[in-house]
Amino acid sequence: ARLANQIAAGEVVERPASVVKELVENSLDAGATRIDIDIDKGGSRTIRIRDNGKGIPKDELGLALSRHATSKIATLDDLEAIASLGFRGEALASISSVSRLTLTSRTAEQEEAWAAYAEGRDMEVQLKPAAHPIGTTLEVLDLFFNTPARRKFLRTEKTEFGHIDELLKRIALSRMDVTINLRHNGKVVRQYRAANTQIQKERRLAAVCGQAFLDHALAVELSHGDLKLSGWICSPQGARSQNDIQYCYVNGRMMKDKLINHAIRQAYESSLAPDQYAAYALFIDVDPHQVDVNVHPAKHEVRFHQARLVHDFICQGLQSALIEGAA
Ligand code: ADP
Ligand code: MG
Repeated sequence: ARLANQIAAGEVVERPASVVKELVENSLDAGATRIDIDIDKGGSRTIRIRDNGKGIPKDELGLALSRHATSKIATLDDLEAIASLGFRGEALASISSVSRLTLTSRTAEQEEAWAAYAEGRDMEVQLKPAAHPIGTTLEVLDLFFNTPARRKFLRTEKTEFGHIDELLKRIALSRMDVTINLRHNGKVVRQYRAANTQIQKERRLAAVCGQAFLDHALAVELSHGDLKLSGWICSPQGARSQNDIQYCYVNGRMMKDKLINHAIRQAYESSLAPDQYAAYALFIDVDPHQVDVNVHPAKHEVRFHQARLVHDFICQGLQSALIEGAA
């Protein structure tokens, strides 16, 4: 069982940031409003993620660590209109096969928490009582300790932590309703407070994208039928020499999509020099049946059924925001 899981792990777990991604997505799926992430040594020593989500019942802990044990797909229609972030049911099993993983959880119905970990070649799950508030903590120690070839591919602590930081920025923008705290080697690095009002959201935007971005940001809020576009774009004066602040989400998922990029670039028309990049944090919401999300986790592409319409909606919407901003 361990070997099969290790092979699967090759697809899911490339580096510490991929572990953080899977675990934070699970926390979000579980309805957490606060997620605390502790990293040691760029994640190669420790990745610890604690949430206040709904928890996992004691009798499902073992299952959660086994492959294809997703609790998230009920019907085929669910699969077509993927609502929750996780749907493959193999992240925990894969991560557990290439690390020392402990899963500790408590549900509201339970008096006490339980810790689960898989051991040995057969990955037999052991349970023991633990102390934990309602919610879940995943602790991943010594990532790739048993796959030395992969461990060798890890970059410096700084680089690996950088990937984690960037990943959490993306998530912090798309889920402003959730408090996210990040520590590295015991030091607080980021504190993203849950934001509800526009002012709180702008504060969070500045925490992620920097004050300079906020200073040049124009708020966007448009809709056309069930197509919605919201977020911020920078004015041409705020354009950058690096394409480092380009965040775009479709139905809450981060995308790097050619059609969308083209629409944004076109909206600026000639107001950007060839070596300048637009900066933006944009959220597109569309009827899930009107879009195909490539189910390969590494691809960030979408296919809109009405591509032309979406393109022109984004382009024209941003053009009018830019014109208003200049006025
Ligand atoms: P998937 O997310 O694709 O269902 P995972 O391997 O990531 O598969 O997780 C397996 C299962 O464990 C989930 O379906 C969920 O029921 C449970 N689970 C994992 N993490 C959490 C969490 N933080 N809170 C509550 N349940 C969780
Ligand atoms: Mg998952």
